Amino acid sequence: MDINDLAANPIRFESMRPEEVLMWTCAALPGKAVFASSLGAEDQVILDMISRLGLDLPVFTLDTGRLFRETYELIETTQRRYGRPIKVFFPKAAAVEEMVEEHGVNLFRKSIDQRHHCCQVRKLEPLARALAPYDAWVCGLRRDQAESRTDVPVVGPDGKGRLKINPLANWTQEQVWAYIRANDVPYNPLHDQGFLSIGCACCTRAVAPGEPARAGRWWWEVDEHKECGLHFVDGKLVRRGPSAGDSER
Ligand code: SF4
Repeated sequence: MDINDLAANPIRFESMRPEEVLMWTCAALPGKAVFASSLGAEDQVILDMISRLGLDLPVFTLDTGRLFRETYELIETTQRRYGRPIKVFFPKAAAVEEMVEEHGVNLFRKSIDQRHHCCQVRKLEPLARALAPYDAWVCGLRRDQAESRTDVPVVGPDGKGRLKINPLANWTQEQVWAYIRANDVPYNPLHDQGFLSIGCACCTRAVAPGEPARAGRWWWEVDEHKECGLHFVDGKLVRRGPSAGDSER
């Protein structure tokens, strides 16, 4: 099945429920799709749906080495709850050692370039390895998470030859939390302390009521830079449509 053909008609996915998108993914791309989870609220909803539907969709996450203690606990809790393995990918030790030796352990505070370098070593490279065997990946992106995500398609090309599938693209934050409460889905307790978007501990903080989720990430930078590179290609933001580029989570 041709990835570009699948992505050529994004409109038809807009009216599908997230469960239908996930079922379509497994039917259209058997053994060729993977779920990239960061254990965020949206990802937990998606994993709950995958499990309820009994879908054969492998799950992985990235351990940057700088995650919150609560996130590690949640990995364990989630695996127990759903009886599914979550494969954990780590950065290459030699690359981390070299980066830290040259730039220091907290290089991400020194410049945007150094922050991107840290994300490249700790996230993007492991992500590329995790995705290598697959033609498509499922993510928990939603359009109202940030200005930079308002055009996120439900299904679209990722700019690197894969299909990127965001079953919750048109869900609101309220829908996510209503689903979590209705289905008793395990979630990161930091969400109850004002952390809306949870990544590395050193690059994440709680936000005030009414602030956008991404305001808690890399708060020392200006807004247009607040992506980790996982959704950019060559420094360009992913946009809807076949001409747009996309990249990793
Ligand atoms: S979020 Fe911060 S610590 Fe984590 S990989 Fe990016 S720059 Fe490094």
